Amino acid sequence: MITSILSTQDTQAVSAGADLIKAGGLVAFPTETVYGLGANGLDGAAVNRIFEAKGRPNDNPLILHVAEKEDAFPLWAAEPPFARKLMDTFWPGPLTLIYYRSDIVPDEVTAGLDTVAVRMPDNEAARALIAAAGVPVAAPSANLSGKPSPTTAAHVLQDMDGRIPLILDGGPCRYGVESTVLSLVGVPTILRPGAVTKEMLAAILGEVALAPSILQPLGAGEKAASPGMKYKHYAPNAQVLVVVGEAPAAAGRLSALYDECIAAGKRPYIAATAEALPFYDRRRCALLGTRQDPTTLCSRLFALLRELDEAADVILCEGVGTEGTGLAFMNRLLRSAGFRVEYL
Ligand code: AMP
Ligand code: MG
Repeated sequence: MITSILSTQDTQAVSAGADLIKAGGLVAFPTETVYGLGANGLDGAAVNRIFEAKGRPNDNPLILHVAEKEDAFPLWAAEPPFARKLMDTFWPGPLTLIYYRSDIVPDEVTAGLDTVAVRMPDNEAARALIAAAGVPVAAPSANLSGKPSPTTAAHVLQDMDGRIPLILDGGPCRYGVESTVLSLVGVPTILRPGAVTKEMLAAILGEVALAPSILQPLGAGEKAASPGMKYKHYAPNAQVLVVVGEAPAAAGRLSALYDECIAAGKRPYIAATAEALPFYDRRRCALLGTRQDPTTLCSRLFALLRELDEAADVILCEGVGTEGTGLAFMNRLLRSAGFRVEYL
């Protein structure tokens, strides 16, 4: 199969994408979080093609994307608690809401769970595509399962060339990490952190719980609140090692690890914050962003992991605190490192 790339500026592109979705096919498209791989979310056979193209385990459920707030309600068995207030505050935007599913949602989307995840993306091309398709669009990130999520059309092509007919190119994604996933079943619980932070949600909900697997591997026999948490995730080919500490101390430890790699004949690269960059001397460094605003770290992380994969077999990365969007950054980084982390 030839994979075409069309700019979302091209007036034909979105309608070509919608036609593919209506016909049961797949289209990669930009959102404000990462690129998604979309199919008709009400058609189980179309949804199965997503799992095939990604090599995704089929017990890992998908998010349904809608173009209008009102389109979310028919997908749930009843109106979820807090849903209207959350949607009015954060939609369109990077917040996915989980509640009991209605009968129109196929088992393939929910991986057999009795709940379904729904979100309205803050990207005009994405919403135009969904509206023109006329159905909710099931879409996970448009990467091969286990790899870092794609934040540009070129990343999608790296993983999906020959596997899907069309990539809509809307330029780099604004946030660069996937949506916050919030379950509204029982105590509102963040299953996956994102750009809508725990602090922002607590301002509306009062109490918000965090799923334990956000910052640690699942224990043996432990059940994942969100099935996606149990798989190897966001991993480049290179080995990722994380050191969490103040900038000078973290730079000191990462420099020592770097020198050990060199002595062992490996090719290390450091992923540094602006605050620590001056401490690495002439070692090979790439700038991640600033500790002042972890949103900058989120938006660079996946792209940097892909870029450094060419140049390095060990990626030595600074970790930061988990306040605000630091939690989303650390959730992705620790998984990409297979939880190889040192806290100073
Ligand atoms: P992705 O599609 O790559 O953005 O991943 C979607 C994430 O949402 C995965 O971690 C899924 O496990 C999670 N998810 C989707 N639907 C549900 C659900 N009904 N219950 C719990 N987690 C879900
Ligand atoms: Mg994904």
